[in-house]
Amino acid sequence: MMLGKCQKYTMVLFSVLFMCFPGLLLHAQTVKHVVVIDPAHGGEDAGVVGIDKIAEKDLTLAIAQALKKELAQNANLEVVLTRDSDITVSLAERRKNIRKIQPAIVLSLHINAGFGKTSSGFEMYYPGFHEENDSPKKKTGKDDANDEKYLSDTVRLSRLVQKGLDGLFPRKGRGLREADVPLAEDLALPVLTVELGFATNPEEKKKLASGRTQKDIARALAKSINSFF
Ligand SMILES: [Zn+2]
Repeated sequence: MMLGKCQKYTMVLFSVLFMCFPGLLLHAQTVKHVVVIDPAHGGEDAGVVGIDKIAEKDLTLAIAQALKKELAQNANLEVVLTRDSDITVSLAERRKNIRKIQPAIVLSLHINAGFGKTSSGFEMYYPGFHEENDSPKKKTGKDDANDEKYLSDTVRLSRLVQKGLDGLFPRKGRGLREADVPLAEDLALPVLTVELGFATNPEEKKKLASGRTQKDIARALAKSINSFF
């Protein structure tokens, strides 16, 4: 095999790099982005329950588990679910775990409910990171810069999620809104809440309950998350 001049230089450069910094290779192999997927509700908290008795907690768990499976194909990601079965986990407990894990992003999955049966599509929320002016905690420049980073990461993630879900819910994206997200309280992290369709819309609910749609949603979300990193 003949090597070009350029290839030779590249090989020499890499050899020198790994001789001087053997940790580099190891580092590249072990660095992982941690992603927390939050299947909302669970256990005693069923979330929205529709006419056919399928509860929001079961749909969010099924989609979260399918998403974890999809993301397992990406060796650079480590995925943690806030619950892996039908158990009650309070918001405080979820926040405590998330704070311990310090993930790169948190994606909280919900199913929406509307007045009447016609509301449909997906919707996203993110916390605005605004602090009250009379907050006793004094703001520092560093915190502000961090908040801005979390905010821009959240918005970037939401755009990717929107793009992914647009294919599954054609013309049904209801947009991104700044809102109070109780899960995100006191967490200085990008937290995005996605409301995946409406449990109060019989057609949409039927779709959401099918394993095939759950897999499609998981695949779309996984694609968005993979492109985020
Ligand atoms: Zn919910």
